[in-house]
Amino acid sequence: MMKKLIAGNWKMNGSLAANDKLLKDILAGLGQQASCQIAVGVPAVYLAQCQALLAGTKIDLASQDISTHEVGAYTGEISGAMLMDFGVRYAIVGHSERRQYHGETDEVVALKAQRALGCGITPIVCVGETLAEREAGQTDEVVKRQLAAVIHANGHCISEVVVAYEPVWAIGTGKTATPEMAQQVHAVLRAQLKAASEHADRIKLLYGGSMNAANAASLLAQPDIDGGLIGGAALKAQDFLTIIAATA
Ligand code: PEP
Repeated sequence: MMKKLIAGNWKMNGSLAANDKLLKDILAGLGQQASCQIAVGVPAVYLAQCQALLAGTKIDLASQDISTHEVGAYTGEISGAMLMDFGVRYAIVGHSERRQYHGETDEVVALKAQRALGCGITPIVCVGETLAEREAGQTDEVVKRQLAAVIHANGHCISEVVVAYEPVWAIGTGKTATPEMAQQVHAVLRAQLKAASEHADRIKLLYGGSMNAANAASLLAQPDIDGGLIGGAALKAQDFLTIIAATA
């Protein structure tokens, strides 16, 4: 059976001191047994610090973004090759906060996924509907459109991506999709991936949106939920550890 993936998204949180404590507490609590794959998505300025803290551990490093460009006059951007220099294994792309506050379109997100794959980084592609879209009955249509752009740009490499379904109304709000609601959308995404790739069964589909220590087990028990993308609860060692333990 495929190992689940629990990925933290720290967003714009942390400091040298806080990161040191958080990662040391998680590593101490993890001990030898980790029944799943684990990653933390840290702010770019802390990649070097976290790379050093995580060297030789079971926790992989993720970035929260990646440039659509490879090199050159793009002030403020960080390329895939630069991320590779710091041992980054995953890049979160198309998080709803990037779509919303930085105007990232489906095409930009698809190109970011392509750039990541091009340098051996696994993109964690985020898709998800807003509350207005859900209420208008457009959930399936929206997530399929977002994923279709990534499939279109990446051809057979699509089997190498991770997809995170993150309903925008559930992110940071304490409102979680019920396991049934999440499973329903995951099944839609799995069917779409099956039509695009014969290896769709090995593509991890994560759920994200107020997943926490209390609700993780029931979400992770769904047949098409292969892990979680965790925001707020990834900043608390004990909560993150409880979510990791819920994959067992
Ligand atoms: C996220 O930002 O990816 C996320 C899921 O956040 P939260 O867990 O805080 O809702």
